[in-house]
Amino acid sequence: MALEEMQFWFTERQTRGYRIQWRLKAILHQEKTKFQELAIVDTYDFGRALLLDGVIQVTEKDHFIYNEMISHIPMSTHPQPEYVLIIGGGDGGALKEILKYPSVKRVDMVEIDERVIANCQKYLPNISDQMTHPKANIIIDDGLSFIKNKKDAYDVIIVDSSDPVGPAIQLFERPFYESVLQALKEDGVMVCQSESPFFYEDILGDVTKTLKHLFPIVRTYLAVVPTYPSGLWSFTLASKKWDPLQKDISILPEPDTKYYTRNIYHSVFALPRMVDDIVSS
Ligand code: SAM
Repeated sequence: MALEEMQFWFTERQTRGYRIQWRLKAILHQEKTKFQELAIVDTYDFGRALLLDGVIQVTEKDHFIYNEMISHIPMSTHPQPEYVLIIGGGDGGALKEILKYPSVKRVDMVEIDERVIANCQKYLPNISDQMTHPKANIIIDDGLSFIKNKKDAYDVIIVDSSDPVGPAIQLFERPFYESVLQALKEDGVMVCQSESPFFYEDILGDVTKTLKHLFPIVRTYLAVVPTYPSGLWSFTLASKKWDPLQKDISILPEPDTKYYTRNIYHSVFALPRMVDDIVSS
């Protein structure tokens, strides 16, 4: 047997025919929480990573791409975001980006699994270090039950959920998006991660269709996240009033980031034809 095959590899199962393998230095922590299998591993190429139900959620090396793109696009679309809600987001990466906006008065982060938060604080401090910020209000609850009774409460809502399996299934369904619509103020903006257009075309298509029934403006955008299957990742923004395509980018803020820039703001809405076909059908 070649030496490399004797090393310690973790396999992430994506589809029946596609798996991703990671060579690990160590498993730092593993537990079964009330909601999911949680692990923190140390990989050779991406540093430490959080896994939920065997799927990579964030890594030290490339988390900034996903977290910046799920946060700065909606935050820059709204002219004065003050009250922000994150559903999920237990690693704290999106929270950290949102707190870069001086207009923000409070960020409610509703994470179902307190063990995700505790373990990210312990093993991924560079990502989760703003969880104790005075403007951060961390709530342990199910996103759907929390948002059900909220009306006219938020300028921006970010759905930073895991894939639609286990506790996150309901965050991809119409009753949840109806509650998001109701919880947003009259010029509110929401965004959700809508999976890989390559592998999960149906999820992106369904999310877009549902949001188009509810919101006057729905825009898909893309980013390249190396650790997610196929690399190409979609986000769907839905807005009651502000259209990102009408935005004058010269007035946008330039937060301190590693991936997102003002120029990226417009370019990410230019879709490859295969993605445009999915969201236009
Ligand atoms: N960046 C990640 C990705 O797309 O792979 C997602 C980040 S974050 C870790 C996702 C979080 O959503 C998880 O911590 C999970 O516990 C949480 N979550 C799943 N279902 C939820 C629900 N119904 N309400 C609130 N949080 C939920």
